[in-house]
Amino acid sequence: MLTLTVLGCDGSHAGPGGGPGPRPPGVGSGAGSGYLVRWWPTATSLWVDAGPGTFAALQRYCDPRNLSAVVLTHRHLDHCSDLAGFVTAARWIWGWDRPPVPVFAASGVREALAAVVDEGKATGGHRRIGGGGASGGYAGDASPSRVGADQSGGAGGAGVGVGGAGQPGGVGVGGAGGAGPGQAGAGGAGGRRALGPVLTWHEVGDGDTVAIGPVEVRFSRTDHGPPTVAVRLDVGGRALGYSADTGPGWPLAALGRDLDLAVCEATYTVEHEGTASHMSARQAGAAARAARARRLVVTHRWPSVDPAAVLAEATEAFGAPAVAASPGRGFSL
Ligand SMILES: [Zn+2]
Repeated sequence: MLTLTVLGCDGSHAGPGGGPGPRPPGVGSGAGSGYLVRWWPTATSLWVDAGPGTFAALQRYCDPRNLSAVVLTHRHLDHCSDLAGFVTAARWIWGWDRPPVPVFAASGVREALAAVVDEGKATGGHRRIGGGGASGGYAGDASPSRVGADQSGGAGGAGVGVGGAGQPGGVGVGGAGGAGPGQAGAGGAGGRRALGPVLTWHEVGDGDTVAIGPVEVRFSRTDHGPPTVAVRLDVGGRALGYSADTGPGWPLAALGRDLDLAVCEATYTVEHEGTASHMSARQAGAAARAARARRLVVTHRWPSVDPAAVLAEATEAFGAPAVAASPGRGFSL
């Protein structure tokens, strides 16, 4: 089973979170863009975009030390800023003695984060602060329920009953292998640990394809300000597409016309069209229809925009019920 869990879905900046249920205009998800994508048979897990607030959410659903890779679609901070939190935790809290996590990022992301992401090389070890057992308090990888409220097939309500504990699959690019088994419990407070680099960077652009374990990831340059890549993920006969940020000049169909699930930005409603390098819900719905996507999830709504209007517009243009992303919502393919 391939699952996607929404970590955050506010457009351009995080709005105030509103808890579960319908959100009025002015209320967002409490986090920028970010998604946890997992292929359970091999415990391959990808953090796709890392907007503000998504690292906190990520820790609710998985042990982030076991991430197979991070994918960052562009350098705008509402999509990448929380990588800093991951690196900080790795270096100062966890004591990073694992293979580095590969980051696949559009041009300019690394430079944008250089001031806040400490890429320090092996230093001989920081003092590890805090204890914690091998699990470090994270249960998500072993617990089958930690996917988020399931929206598989539109049925809703059913938990995702697939486990898949184990180590992530290896990564086909950059030579980094899967993370090793939990060793974080060793050493304890005050122990000295060899500390290596936390990340390895790979710049990706239009047409690039990488393999993350069994997951094939393909990138397509979108219609946005800075270099921005949409993402298509293929594994086990399933296809998931994510538009990242884009204006209407990029066709979602560039990700193929066989997407089982399309996660497409719908930043605002039709009256805002042309005011920014984003799509309205009408444009998102039309793009998903043209791409013949089987299901459409709209995301990246500006918190100030009425979510009911976004959903209605997207549904009408798509020709089938669209679903609004919300934090903790899970989708199964
Ligand atoms: Zn954005």
